[in-house]
Amino acid sequence: MKNLAVLTSGGDAPGMNAAIRAVVRTGQARGLQTWGVYEGYSGLIEGNFKRLGPRDVGSIIQRGGTVLGSARCPQFHTEEGVELAIRRLHGAGIEGLVVIGGNGSQTGAHALHKMGFPVVGVASTIDNDLYGSDVTLGVDTALNVALNAIDNLKVTASSHRRALLVEVMGRKCGYLALMAGIAGGAEAIVLPEIDVVPEQLAERIQDVYQRGKPHAIVVVAEGANYNAEGLCQYFREHELLRGYEFRSTVLGYVQRGAPPTCADRLLGTRLGSEAAEQIIAGNQGVLVGIITGQVTTTPLEEVVVGKKPLDPWFLKAADMLAR
Ligand code: ATP
Repeated sequence: MKNLAVLTSGGDAPGMNAAIRAVVRTGQARGLQTWGVYEGYSGLIEGNFKRLGPRDVGSIIQRGGTVLGSARCPQFHTEEGVELAIRRLHGAGIEGLVVIGGNGSQTGAHALHKMGFPVVGVASTIDNDLYGSDVTLGVDTALNVALNAIDNLKVTASSHRRALLVEVMGRKCGYLALMAGIAGGAEAIVLPEIDVVPEQLAERIQDVYQRGKPHAIVVVAEGANYNAEGLCQYFREHELLRGYEFRSTVLGYVQRGAPPTCADRLLGTRLGSEAAEQIIAGNQGVLVGIITGQVTTTPLEEVVVGKKPLDPWFLKAADMLAR
């Protein structure tokens, strides 16, 4: 292999830049020409490629987002889209591609692999819903941002004797909510994995009030059967939750754009560098992730169908410790 390219796709995640830098510099150290593909699969289809040398990826390790840009590209869901992308890659002499992204992006990588193009994935999404890595790139930063917000909100909730329902990201996966809720000492956590019954939640918060706590923090995952505002509305309409005043706060994209933590810089570096090594060594059609502390490769055909359930220990702990 002489030419290796890298792209970022799907939702941006803090640490993507560290991974891009590691792919480029590892490729260069192994004597390859390295390329960046701009705007994810859209850029792949349009041939939006640029040569990247070691200096082009200087001073990006500390930056959130992705210097290559990202995109959602419906055209890549079609066979013609994937074929066109492969023609573009061949046209530029590129013989291997590292795809940094989450579930959808790795499904796209699998489509390229099935058509015979050498590809390796890097597990990257703040949602942590990707099979093949215990923890994905961006999760640590997103968690720390959520945690800071929860700490601050708890102060103001205590001052005003309020219940605050804090909505965190994570799509249909409750990992961020569960971990931020435990680490933030939330009184209750609402997850997509377990349907919430608003009456029971109100009772639980009421109980917290009666026990004299000055605040109740409820961490709500965005993909739960009721979101934070939905729960507040339900409480109002059904005249539940007496005692505390209550409000909802949606953290939203602030969780995605932060500068990467040390853990995410190291993870991006490790996964990006290993992805380049794997593709050069001929181990293609795999996702590079971390399983029980070790860099591991998992075939993309397993990644695209695999499910990663929440750790039952943390689920039990969340319930036991929120008193
Ligand atoms: P995150 O969950 O962090 O947002 P993601 O990688 O799951 O990241 P998606 O928007 O689901 O984000 O996917 C990114 C892109 O991957 C899509 O816009 C599309 O171009 C490509 N993709 C998704 N699903 C498929 C598929 N089934 N076949 C081919 N390409 C796909």
